Amino acid sequence: MDFFDFHHHKKYIGYGIYNVNPENIPPDFAFSVGIHPKEINIDMLDSQFHWLQSNINDRCFAIGECGLDSFSNVDQKTQEDVFLRQIKISNDVKKPLIIHCVRKFYEVISFKKYAEQAMIIHGFNKKQGIAEDLLKNNFYLSFGKAVLYNLSLQNTLKMTPLDKVFLETDNDDFIIEELYQKAAEIKGISLERLNEQILENLETIQNG
Ligand SMILES: [Zn+2]
Repeated sequence: MDFFDFHHHKKYIGYGIYNVNPENIPPDFAFSVGIHPKEINIDMLDSQFHWLQSNINDRCFAIGECGLDSFSNVDQKTQEDVFLRQIKISNDVKKPLIIHCVRKFYEVISFKKYAEQAMIIHGFNKKQGIAEDLLKNNFYLSFGKAVLYNLSLQNTLKMTPLDKVFLETDNDDFIIEELYQKAAEIKGISLERLNEQILENLETIQNG
């Protein structure tokens, strides 16, 4: 069985969504392309957006990672402008948004109204209350390595509806199958059932 890795940075993983590094050329498998809030360069913004736009093709699965990050050196207003522009691109090209968010969840929620496509919070590892608010606002949550050992996050995954879940390795070095196994155990379902559901979720977000 192959296990879809929703968000990763490793060129050797062919089954999943590879996040393209700034100014790089996308691979010949599924990828996401976007301007990360920590990588915004105010003097180069035009060329950053040109790079983004020119790499949107059939293999581009999603726009991102993009979003808001309270540890970024870029001021909040600029981060929000760049985020909103990427939401509009996602609307235009009809592709979902992969969201990077650090300590700005309620600000990100306030941008949901502008998005016509699905928004997926990648690497979610925060408190259950935040998860609940995100789910209420129709976000998807993509869980990563922390689920393997973080008990409260395991509980959050348990209460997250299966049709809102994705799984990813991001930058971490481990095998995605391990995470699928853990998630199936937490959800009390078979690995096959979980895999099936994730593929269904992918279809749902692809169809807007
Ligand atoms: Zn990442």
